[in-house]
Amino acid sequence: MSNAAGRRRDILDTISAAARLARREPGDVRLVAVTKGRTPDEIAPLLAAGQRDFGENRVQEAIAKWPPLIARNEGVRLHAIGRLQSNKAAEAIRLFDVIHALDRTSLLQALVTEAEKASRFPEVYVQVNIGEEEQKGGCAIGDVGEMVASVRASPLPLAGLMCIPPHELDPAPYFALLAELGRRHGVSGLSMGMSADYRTAVMLGATAVRVGTALFEE
Ligand SMILES: *Cc1c(COP(=O)(O)O)cnc(C)c1O
Repeated sequence: MSNAAGRRRDILDTISAAARLARREPGDVRLVAVTKGRTPDEIAPLLAAGQRDFGENRVQEAIAKWPPLIARNEGVRLHAIGRLQSNKAAEAIRLFDVIHALDRTSLLQALVTEAEKASRFPEVYVQVNIGEEEQKGGCAIGDVGEMVASVRASPLPLAGLMCIPPHELDPAPYFALLAELGRRHGVSGLSMGMSADYRTAVMLGATAVRVGTALFEE
């Protein structure tokens, strides 16, 4: 087993243990392997080990890297996890199966237009600026209801809510707040948790964790 495959096994075990402790079904948590900056040779052992959900944060990098990997591996689901510009909507719709960073109605409109043209309808998470940080992507907490309603009225399936908590603060209260916003708006999917905090995120209700560094580095 390659090191990345071994680390994936350990991460899946940690996810399962955290889910069971929280009285959740381990199968309800999806591991999204974040492969930004990683080469096809680094990704290959994960594909061989059965990993099928992968996250990229740049459309251009994903277009350069993934089409041959998708052609050779059945069932790959590609996730766009980074900030998305509306002028990349057409390319994003063609390549990605899940979009995690929907945070404004203008982007939703651009995605819907391109989805209808291509007859491809990826699921979308509404990203929430959970720490109310100036520089961060995500819609304001007060706008979540409206964004969720806009997606529900669109042809794109609503996957849930997504957040990236403020750097260097305890993420737990932010994960708990995202879960509370999910309950308030009747949304069960929660994309939250990265290498440093995915276990905490699973205990607080994450249904998708986005893990890069912990898969690829010691
Ligand atoms: C890079 C990235 C991750 C993964 O971060 P790691 O700390 O390497 O696990 C998760 N989510 C987003 C949005 C990212 O850009």
